[in-house]
Amino acid sequence: MKKEALYYDNLESGKVKCRLCPHNCTIGEGKFGICKARTAQGSKLYTTIYGEVSAIAMDPIEKKPLYHFFPGSSILSIGTVGCSFKCQFCQNYHISQNLNYPTDFYSPEEIAELALNKGSIGVAYTYSEPLIWYEYVYDASIETRKRGLKNVFVTNGYINQEPLSELLKYADAFNIDLKSFNKDFYRKVIGGKLEPVLETIEEVSRHPEIDLEVTTLVIPGYNDSDKEMDEITDFLASLNKDIPYHLSAYYPAYKFKAPPTPVETLERLKEIAERKLNYVYLGNVAGHTNTYCTECGALLIERHGYYTRIVDLKGDRCGNCGAKIPIIV
Ligand code: SF4
Repeated sequence: MKKEALYYDNLESGKVKCRLCPHNCTIGEGKFGICKARTAQGSKLYTTIYGEVSAIAMDPIEKKPLYHFFPGSSILSIGTVGCSFKCQFCQNYHISQNLNYPTDFYSPEEIAELALNKGSIGVAYTYSEPLIWYEYVYDASIETRKRGLKNVFVTNGYINQEPLSELLKYADAFNIDLKSFNKDFYRKVIGGKLEPVLETIEEVSRHPEIDLEVTTLVIPGYNDSDKEMDEITDFLASLNKDIPYHLSAYYPAYKFKAPPTPVETLERLKEIAERKLNYVYLGNVAGHTNTYCTECGALLIERHGYYTRIVDLKGDRCGNCGAKIPIIV
């Protein structure tokens, strides 16, 4: 559905300037922004994907991945089409780079009601990039909150600060992709800038009531050096060493033919990350997904694939030594 967009300016030239994400596209009449989901018509900017859902499912929260947010629960997950990035290794390119992918319309109220009726802890905006779906995820988040449920964003973090701070009022958890710490990689392979992503991570980290987790898809030969892992974990640790950090294995997709990430690479990077961060997990491979108490070493949460078992957690404390664990339950 087409709906007037938020966050845009009219320019003297007759064009409009979108202020939602750091691309800050200047868009002429009848043209689209880089995300291809916002168009200018008659001096107004419109989103063309309001309520358009390309994928919907009840997922384990661990699939987002979120490991420190209601472990073992299920969440209604929805996605749309389009993206502000053009990652050449996109694992979901069939919806992120194809605006013609079939969608069904769900109003914000319908999505929130569905989440309630399915016994979901809330709604996860995921699969494709939720931040370019801003007007819809904002409205749906309000409806979800009204029903006492949670809002989860799985995102590339590419958003300007003003819309972000509005959205944070309704957000309960974020998993933000930090695809690299290399500006050239962001510019050439992803089609964006690194700094705004870091700013988003920094801003979300200032909200202790929001679970912030960060994911890096590790691509052999591109972002798997010891140096880069040091830089990423220095940055995250400078914000909070309790930020859960997920290192995910890449598989060849879209325009990338590099071989899948070897497990040994992930294990090496995990070892480096653990010098500075308390909770580092591997994804898309077997093992390295349990949560342990950083005080006494007790096994708190056991995970096998998407099977999750709470072993020794009492609320947000270690059942063995009573230490507070940075986890929202
Ligand atoms: S949201 Fe889309 S139209 Fe707006 S600035 Fe970003 S890429 Fe451009």
